[in-house]
Amino acid sequence: MQYHFIANTATPSSSGRTLPMIDPSDGQPFDEIQRGTAQDVDQAVRAARKCYDSVWSKLSGAERGRLLMRLSAKVAEHADALALIEQRDCGKPTKQARADAAALARYFEFYAGACDKLHGQTIPYQEGFSVFTWREAYGVVGNIIPWNYPMQIFGRSVGGALAAGNVCVVKPSEDACLSLLKVAQLAAEVGFPAGAINIVTGYGHEVGDALARHSGIDHISFTGSPSVGTIIQQVAAERHCPVTLELGGKSPQIVFADADLDAAVPTIINAIVQNAGQTCSAGSRLLVDGLIYDELLERLGQAFENLRVGPAAMDLDVGPLIRQSQQQRVWDFLSDAQVAGIPMVAQGRVVDEAPESGFYQAPTLLRDVPVTHRLAQDEIFGPVLCAMRFKDEDHAIELANATRFGLVAGVWTRDGARQMRMARRVHSGQVFINNYGAGGGVELPFGGVKSSGYGREKGFEAMYGFTTLKTVAIKHG
Ligand code: NAD
Repeated sequence: MQYHFIANTATPSSSGRTLPMIDPSDGQPFDEIQRGTAQDVDQAVRAARKCYDSVWSKLSGAERGRLLMRLSAKVAEHADALALIEQRDCGKPTKQARADAAALARYFEFYAGACDKLHGQTIPYQEGFSVFTWREAYGVVGNIIPWNYPMQIFGRSVGGALAAGNVCVVKPSEDACLSLLKVAQLAAEVGFPAGAINIVTGYGHEVGDALARHSGIDHISFTGSPSVGTIIQQVAAERHCPVTLELGGKSPQIVFADADLDAAVPTIINAIVQNAGQTCSAGSRLLVDGLIYDELLERLGQAFENLRVGPAAMDLDVGPLIRQSQQQRVWDFLSDAQVAGIPMVAQGRVVDEAPESGFYQAPTLLRDVPVTHRLAQDEIFGPVLCAMRFKDEDHAIELANATRFGLVAGVWTRDGARQMRMARRVHSGQVFINNYGAGGGVELPFGGVKSSGYGREKGFEAMYGFTTLKTVAIKHG
C-alpha cells in the first residue's frame, strides 16, 4: 500500500479510498495508491507554503544546489531499484527504465549546478537612476505529471522548480506514480526540509483539478495531453496563475534523397518504438523524398518485421502499452487505416511468452497516409509510423507543418544549406539534423509551439520559466 508524501510523511488520504496499480505486462493489480481529495491537496499546499516561508526561501542557491546534488547521488545509488519500480508501473523494458533512472539523477545534477547561477541584470537608464532586475521564485509550484516518463518528467519539472527556489506539490499520473513516491522519500533522507517536495496521488479530475484551482499554487507546470492542457489553462486563467504547458506532438522525421540511410534507418525506428511509441516527441510521421521512398520503406519494413514485443522484464525492443484503453486507442487508429485502404508495409511480432492479459501492440509501418487523415494528424501514442512522400523541399515543409502540433522535428540531409533552411522553416520547439532527440540531453531546452504547448523546460532556460522578474529602479540623483 502506498501513501501520499506530504511534509516528509507518508500520509493516508482523507477519502479513505485507494486505487489499484496495474502491471501493463500482465494486466494484473500489484499495489494500491491513495485516491486523493481536494482536502489532501490543501494539506500538501499548506505544508509547501510553510516550508517555503520558513526554510526554503531563506536558503542560498548554493545550499539548494548541495541538496539537489545529494539527491542526484542518492538516486544514482538507488537507480536499479527505481528502474525496477518504473518497469513494473509503466511496462518499460529494462534498458529504458534504467535510462530513465539515470536521466533523473542527471537532471538533479544539472539543476544542482544551476541553482547559484541565476541572476538578474543591471540596466543603463536615465542619469540619477540605478536600475537592476531580480529573478524571484514564484513560491509554490504545482507539477502535474503524465505516466509515460514519470521519473524523467519529475526530474525536469521538479528539479528545475526547486533549483529556481520554489517548493513543489506534485500530482503524478494515477497510472504510474510509484517511482516518484520513492524519490520523494529519498529526498527526505538526504535532508530536504519537510514540505519542499510533496506528492498527492489520485485521479486527474479530482487531485489534478484541485491542485490547478488551489489559490496557494503560484505556478503550474503541466505535462500531458492537449485536451487536459486546455482545461488547466482555463482553470488557471480564473486566477491568472502562470502555466507552462508541455503537451503532445505529431513530430515529422524528414528524409531527403541525399541522406545517410544507414544512419537514418535505426534512428527512425527508435524514434517511434521507444517506450512503445508513448513519447510526446515520438517521430510518428515519416516524410520521404519521392526519389528514395520505396527504397527506404523496404529497408524499414524489413527492420520492423524483426522487432519483438513482450513483457517489460524480457527487455525486448518494445514493451506493453500503459493500459487497456491505450491499446484500444491504437487498435481504433489501425482499424481506421484498414477502412481507408492505407497500406501496411510491415509489423513486428508479439512474442509467445507475452500474457494475453497484457497490453501489447506490434509496431506497425503504414505508407501513403493522406496528410489530412487522422492517422497523420492526431497523436496515436503507440508504435505506429505513418509514411508519406514529398516531391521537393517546399513540399516537405508544407507536410511537416500541416498539423496542429509543433514539438520536435528530425531532418536527414547532407546538404548544409538545406539543413539550415529546414531548421528555420519547420514549426517546432526542437529540430534535429541527422539525428533524432540528440540523446535527450537534459541541457537542451524543450517545449513546443502551437498545440504542443508553450514555455520551455529542461536546460537552463527552464530556470527563467520557474521564476518571475522584478525590476528595481533607485533614484539617487
Ligand atoms: P493526461 O493529460 O491524461 O494526464 C496528465 C496528467 O494530468 C495526469 O497526472 C492526470 O491525472 C492529470 N489530469 C487529468 N485530468 C486532469 C484535470 N482535469 N485537471 C488536472 N489534472 C488532470 O496525459 P497522459 O495520458 O498522462 O500523458 C500522455 C500525454 O502527455 C500525451 O499527449 C503526451 O504527448 C503528453 N506528454 C507531453 C510531454 C511534453 O514534454 N511535451 C511529455 C510527456 C507526455
